Amino acid sequence: MRAGCSEQEISQPLSPLHRRSFLKASAAMAAMAFSGAGGLSGIAHADALTKAQRDKLSPDEILELMKKGNKRFYSGKQEPRNILAQQRASAKSQYPAAMLLTCIDSRAPAETILDLRIGDIFNSRVAGNVENPDILGSMEFAFKLAGAKVILVMGHTACGAIKGAIDNAELGNLTGSLAKIKPAVAATSYTGERTSKNYSFVDAVARKNVEITMAAIRKDSPVLAAMESDGAIKIAGAMYDLGTGVVDFFAG
Ligand SMILES: [Zn+2]
Repeated sequence: MRAGCSEQEISQPLSPLHRRSFLKASAAMAAMAFSGAGGLSGIAHADALTKAQRDKLSPDEILELMKKGNKRFYSGKQEPRNILAQQRASAKSQYPAAMLLTCIDSRAPAETILDLRIGDIFNSRVAGNVENPDILGSMEFAFKLAGAKVILVMGHTACGAIKGAIDNAELGNLTGSLAKIKPAVAATSYTGERTSKNYSFVDAVARKNVEITMAAIRKDSPVLAAMESDGAIKIAGAMYDLGTGVVDFFAG
């Protein structure tokens, strides 16, 4: 919601002047809908990914499209969007190409930083982007039943959950959540100050945490591990830099 815009203001009927500018804006948006602008696809002349388009893409091609989307984001060249056309085009069915496992951090919204459309990806967000049985169940739905092809585990710099795990923070259910990150703290080889005040250490732990989560997905979900061995899906990792907007996709 816009700052300073009360609910009352929003519910007021549009004045004739406002109505005219709204109609003009709608016409401009409708014109953009014919431009074939597309997020993940970049090859599609549609407002939502179709089954045929998704099924044609290989896991590597999907990763490549996400890399291109992030490049558009951090260079300020996002695709023009008609969000309402995307909503309407995807309302009756969805054919997402990937599932992202990302942190809840408000500054790391995957769809925005990868310049994606409504319907392009499933997105699971949890503090510290760790896996658990509920997330694995969602992944097994997304890949075995819904046909997605890439799992991207994405951590980010200056992550509060990682700092909390390093500091042994304790608070209600959060204590248990942070316990899932602690193996990454112990497994990070780092010479220097191993505290939450040292951002270089925090980011090294976040990276290790992504690697550990990727391995845990393979270990805890034989369904997904088998699909990866068959080449049907790919489990990939990445780190998002809050400062630069760049997503560093891990090699391999
Ligand atoms: Zn975080």
